[in-house]
Amino acid sequence: MKTKFLLLFLFTIAIISCNTDKTITINNAMLLESIKILSHDSLEGRGFSKPGNYKAQQFIANQFKEIGLEKIAGHEYVQEFPYTFSGKRRQRMFPIKNANEDFSNVTDTTVIGGNVVGKIAGKIKKTIVITGHLDHLGIKGGKIYNGADDDASGTAALFAIAEYFKKNKPQHTLVFAAVDAEEIGSLGADYWLKNYKNKQDIVLNINMDMIAHNDSLRLFAAGLYHYPQLKKPIENIESPITLLFGHDNPKNKKLEDWTFSSDHRIFHKEKIPFIYFGVEDHKDYHKPTDTFENINKEFYIDAVKLIINAIENYDNSLNKNL
Ligand SMILES: [Zn+2]
Repeated sequence: MKTKFLLLFLFTIAIISCNTDKTITINNAMLLESIKILSHDSLEGRGFSKPGNYKAQQFIANQFKEIGLEKIAGHEYVQEFPYTFSGKRRQRMFPIKNANEDFSNVTDTTVIGGNVVGKIAGKIKKTIVITGHLDHLGIKGGKIYNGADDDASGTAALFAIAEYFKKNKPQHTLVFAAVDAEEIGSLGADYWLKNYKNKQDIVLNINMDMIAHNDSLRLFAAGLYHYPQLKKPIENIESPITLLFGHDNPKNKKLEDWTFSSDHRIFHKEKIPFIYFGVEDHKDYHKPTDTFENINKEFYIDAVKLIINAIENYDNSLNKNL
């Protein structure tokens, strides 16, 4: 009997060690709680330079502190930046009651935005920057645009990813950036990258924008048309959801080109390779119904695990000059 058990034991060990797929574990409840908080009515849709947006910044900064992320040299977790609206632009963004009003006398207004950034120093200086945008559309026409999928999902994912890599030390330095003002032209990502002192060390941007809502359980990784060398580490990731490639070829008329659709474009313009994780537009996209209740919770958890797997594969392979 004893020999039988020993054989069974050895056999089990052999199976476990043959299985190279690493099972990613995250705190599912915490992930869902974070996206719920970020898309709560009390944050009023996180409109750029609005009180709900500042609340979101504080919440994210507290999470980064609790997780134990280091600060980036040059600023606190929150990196403030000024932005001046031309009077007319402001009028277009925040329309007042009478749309026909002559606003030629409206003066320019300077407001303050804020990115929230932290890092985990790796063994090497080469850096992977992981982004999600903290802002959304705010309140329009008296309705709160909660932006649960867009992009509380990418922002809350930053916490889960950061927690994972605090426990599983990466080789690369990982920067976690919840950037502001994506919805009005990626102002936050642009400001951050322009002012980041170690830009030459960045080897990859992983951008997450809308990763929590797809009824067919399909997540896209866009960017491989421009950076085909990034395909190998993500082509065989096992997951209950489907990872598809595309939405990055300007010549493909069937699939919309997402190369410039979110903050990864700021990195792409600087010739920094990117992978953008996102879903196709859904019925709640840029609507007040983009709420916590309407996301696909299981899909979201699996998407975050898949992205962690991808980052881990890049961390292990980028340094070996694929
Ligand atoms: Zn977005």
